[in-house]
Amino acid sequence: MPLSRFPPAPRFPADSLASRRSHMSSDKRSITVLGLGPMGRAMAAALLDRGYTVTVWNRTASRADELVARGAVQAADVAEALAANDVVVLSLTDYAAMYEVLEPAGAALAGRTLVNLSSDTPEQARAAARWAAERGAVHLTGGVTVPPSGIGQPDSVTFYSGPRAAFDTCRPHLEVITGRTDHRGEDPGTAALFYQLGMVMFWTSMLSFWQAVALARANGLKAADILPHAVDTARSLPGFLAFYAERIDAGDHSGDVDRLAMGTASVEHVLHTHADSGVDTRLPAAVVDLFRHGMAAGHAADSFSSLVELLTGTEA
Ligand code: NDP
Repeated sequence: MPLSRFPPAPRFPADSLASRRSHMSSDKRSITVLGLGPMGRAMAAALLDRGYTVTVWNRTASRADELVARGAVQAADVAEALAANDVVVLSLTDYAAMYEVLEPAGAALAGRTLVNLSSDTPEQARAAARWAAERGAVHLTGGVTVPPSGIGQPDSVTFYSGPRAAFDTCRPHLEVITGRTDHRGEDPGTAALFYQLGMVMFWTSMLSFWQAVALARANGLKAADILPHAVDTARSLPGFLAFYAERIDAGDHSGDVDRLAMGTASVEHVLHTHADSGVDTRLPAAVVDLFRHGMAAGHAADSFSSLVELLTGTEA
């Protein structure tokens, strides 16, 4: 394990943390990043680009090599990485990894602001905030909405939630990671919820594209052949989202524009096209199943937006 180039920062007794915080300048350009997967490496690189002193630690030490070559400080262990800075960015696979990494560091957590940009559930985020508080640390939940290529970009956005004061202090640093920061309130779970809202749409949307590519392939077409049509289809969606969002919030599922009966016939055509082409039918079959469920619940003459009520679980 390479040695840190700098000694750990001096430790402060817990009762002096408040006065120390009051002296902590929001423009102090020094940060610790724990976790150097593709995301953590991009974050550390963006901070280095902006002239930050960046202390890094990663379970697999060699992932820090490129960053160290660019001037990052590699801590010998987690406690040393925590001691180096007040603001500690976590970019780990999930919160279980966070406990594995931070539990052994024990007392070194006191006084730190943990900006947790690892993804997990809202409940995990709330539990982590309690866990951090018990150790004298502040937990800010983050939900990054972009891949590594979006890190450091001015238009990229990250959701945050947790203590507003801690967020305000960290904000200038967080805006290096993604130009836009959206604090969604004090509940540590909210940023994780917003992240998951994006993820359920992202994974299912991308899976729908893989499905279309599979169908295209079975019919002698490449992904590139259908790309313009796929992009046009995706571009049409924002209009649908806005139209139905307003109606859903108003409790309006009237079938004046579309009817679930029509939608069911359509998704059955999709299913049969896949079956006829010898393509895996699990995804279109699941869609047909949901539509038929809506029909059985008496929504044939309503819009297919009525499926929201079934999905919410307020209808059988
Ligand atoms: P990875 O899973 O590729 O890497 C995350 C890091 O977690 C690695 O440094 C890995 O260490 C470390 N890690 C995992 N388990 C443990 C453990 N038990 N103990 C110690 N360290 C551990 O994730 P990404 O970098 O791709 O993403 C980081 C987070 O950001 C994830 O929560 C992800 O969901 C989220 N995210 C990712 C996006 C993306 O496009 N990649 C986009 C938006 C959010 P080691 O190197 O030793 O394996």
